[in-house]
Amino acid sequence: MLGTKVLREPENQASGNYRKSCMLRTRCWRRSRLSCLTKMKTTRRFTRLLALVLFALPPSYFAQSQPSADLIVRNAKVWTVDKSHPTAQAVAVLGDRIVAVGSNDDIEAWHGPRTRVIDAGGKLMLPGFNDAHVHFVDGGLALDQVELNDATSATEFARRIGERARRTPKGEWVEGGDWDETKWNPARMPAKELIDPLTPDTPVFVMRYDGHMALANSTALRLAGITAATPDPPGGVIVRDSQGNPTGALKDAAMDYVYKIAPPLSHDQRVQAVKRALAHAASLGVTSVQHMNPEYADIAVYAELLQRGELTARIYAAPLIPSVDDQVKIGVRHAFGGPYLRIGALKAYADGSLGSSTAYFFEPFSNQPNNRGLLSDEMHPVSLMQDRMMRADAAGLQICTHAIGDQGISTILDIYSEIVKAHGESDRRFRIEHAQHMAAKDFERFAQLHVIASVQPYHAIDDGRWAEERIGHDRSSRTYAFRTFLDHGIRLALGTDWNVAPLDPMLTVYAAVTRATLDGKNPNGWFPEQKLTLPETIEAYTLGSAYAEFQENEKGSITAGKLADMVLLTDDIFSIDPARIRDVKVRTTIVGGKIVWDASDKQVH
Ligand SMILES: [Zn+2]
Repeated sequence: MLGTKVLREPENQASGNYRKSCMLRTRCWRRSRLSCLTKMKTTRRFTRLLALVLFALPPSYFAQSQPSADLIVRNAKVWTVDKSHPTAQAVAVLGDRIVAVGSNDDIEAWHGPRTRVIDAGGKLMLPGFNDAHVHFVDGGLALDQVELNDATSATEFARRIGERARRTPKGEWVEGGDWDETKWNPARMPAKELIDPLTPDTPVFVMRYDGHMALANSTALRLAGITAATPDPPGGVIVRDSQGNPTGALKDAAMDYVYKIAPPLSHDQRVQAVKRALAHAASLGVTSVQHMNPEYADIAVYAELLQRGELTARIYAAPLIPSVDDQVKIGVRHAFGGPYLRIGALKAYADGSLGSSTAYFFEPFSNQPNNRGLLSDEMHPVSLMQDRMMRADAAGLQICTHAIGDQGISTILDIYSEIVKAHGESDRRFRIEHAQHMAAKDFERFAQLHVIASVQPYHAIDDGRWAEERIGHDRSSRTYAFRTFLDHGIRLALGTDWNVAPLDPMLTVYAAVTRATLDGKNPNGWFPEQKLTLPETIEAYTLGSAYAEFQENEKGSITAGKLADMVLLTDDIFSIDPARIRDVKVRTTIVGGKIVWDASDKQVH
């Protein structure tokens, strides 16, 4: 249905009821001493007089004094995510705000000589995507690191590292990579001999995709002082050959030997990483991101870019909860800051992950009868976490807790309910990040505590390939249980966990509506009863994520008065086969009324 919703009418537009009623109100107020009857009579007389006067004015009088929009997008299929006004054709923007949403004709009233007009050619326009869970600087770094994940052989793996080493300035390292030896033919664990001849002077420390193992070359091992005599650290393994010499592969805590001596990120590297991440987000229609566990130096870079006017996505940053007292001390509260940069949240860790079999469950993993997973070190003891969360809540800070296994989630809900008992009800918007494997008994409690489920649908189609082997059918039926959350009245916020998963919102939308696992084995959906509809997905990814950062009145829908963050897509995802959604691209990204990405010139403005 089309219609117009207007924040501010063009001045002197005599035909609008809004203007008339405004006049009436002013008139009534001035005459407040008159009797009601007299007031009404006077009002009617005044209205008639006004109509006569306005009728007599030449049309040029209105044209001259009407303010014009800075930007108009017309001829679009606008999906507003505003229930009072779900669809429209056109949008007018003044400064960084939406001022009117309606039909092409309605919006034409805002067209002036300096208005930039985008003809959308019937394309779909949505509110900008708000990714509720990203690791933005890691993502920006990964965009520039050697890409090893899709290498199909050991030779290709080594060639890419060698090529990167040749381009790496002296003193810098080759890092990152996300290699996966199971994709090689034949599959085998890499050793330093594979890469040493190609990297004689460059330290190399490349990570396996799961983050639990890395390969160092001989230069990196030498710098770290790792030899045959070095003992395995607690919780770590130095992989050795038959003579006891390190192969270069280091597991878990053994990786710390290298981390300790690897050069820290320089300020300039951090700035470049953020710029790459911003450009990547703009090209994908991501207009807001919620950065989980940033370092303070990351926030400093955001502040610097904000001051230079170079932030092209809005950022909400949630540093780790062990540093809770820093934010308590400076007295910031949830969502403190401005439209482009906010803090006032904290990220906590309850447990590990399903992939590494460290998510914390009530019952053992189906394939590991002695393993129920692990609580994170922040949870030893649980009272330490509770104390920190109590301090955070008392200070008005928002709590976002990574919890994946059913007992991990349950334990956090216990703490959340203790907080409510101690401090009373308030609009605190507790979050559980991932909320991956729910105990059947906990949905109700989750809803009663008004906890937001901050979920990443792409993980469902990725982990769905093997999750059932690890936790069985019954627990899998409550895994990424998006539909059950909604049925319980639980709010969803959508995100990706970039760079653990791709930042592209179309992959996430595809995942939420199809639940088709990446291996192609579940084309009709893995636990298809948990699929979301497309409108539900879009709402959770825009308004839902905005709610999760206390910004639902500022953004998350195409509504007059809100920030002008919008995205035009190449295809109408409502009318194509859902299987094709993942191929849809972004044509134009608009943040605060500025075009930050346009596919036609392939550049960020
Ligand atoms: Zn994460």
